[in-house]
Amino acid sequence: MRLILLGPPGAGKGTQAKFLVDSYGIPQLSTGDMLREAVAAGTEVGRKAKAVMDAGKLVSDDIMNAIIDERIGKEDCARGFILDGFPRTLEQADALGDMLQRRGSGLDHVVCLEVDDDALVERISGRYTCANCGEGYHDSFKKPASEGVCDRCGSTEFKRRKDDNPETLKTRLFAYYKDTAPLIGYYHAKGLLKRIDGMGDIGDITAAIRKVLDS
Ligand code: AMP
Repeated sequence: MRLILLGPPGAGKGTQAKFLVDSYGIPQLSTGDMLREAVAAGTEVGRKAKAVMDAGKLVSDDIMNAIIDERIGKEDCARGFILDGFPRTLEQADALGDMLQRRGSGLDHVVCLEVDDDALVERISGRYTCANCGEGYHDSFKKPASEGVCDRCGSTEFKRRKDDNPETLKTRLFAYYKDTAPLIGYYHAKGLLKRIDGMGDIGDITAAIRKVLDS
């Protein structure tokens, strides 16, 4: 199954992708994670992307298309993948269509998670992860059972994304509405779009997505 999770920053794409990886046995391809790894490793792509990401703007289509073209050609994507954070522009969507066509395949579903702007700001400004295992937490919604200790691995080190601040979030939301939201119409016109209410309980949203994917 080849699936795109679409939605604004903070909509829950990454959270839901992780559950779907377990259910369907296909990998999550998070371009944000890939770029953050490239920045941490100091690669050429990482050096080019860092300032753009810190500002909340979009990395160039050429760079992103090349990353995804290479990634979906890997063995673990043979049975499908979950795209989380790509495509983010109409150019990227066209390029993805070409990449899949070249490989004789295509998309099965595009799931759009719909969340109110106020909730996005609240979700993003409070979120953090365990620096060791990556488990996600939130200042209001999901604190570790024992304060300062990761529930999953016991680490006491946590980190917050540099771009998860109110100022950068404004730029990220602007980029979403200007460049990425047009993809909703694009995939609707292709008959692939499924809209899911992303405001409720995490488990209920996973169930709603699975229902759509399995129908
Ligand atoms: P994310 O983790 O998906 O919120 O992505 C973090 C940042 O990485 C974004 O704000 C962009 O600067 C960059 N980024 C991730 N995916 C893309 C993409 N498909 N196109 C352009 N920039 C991207």
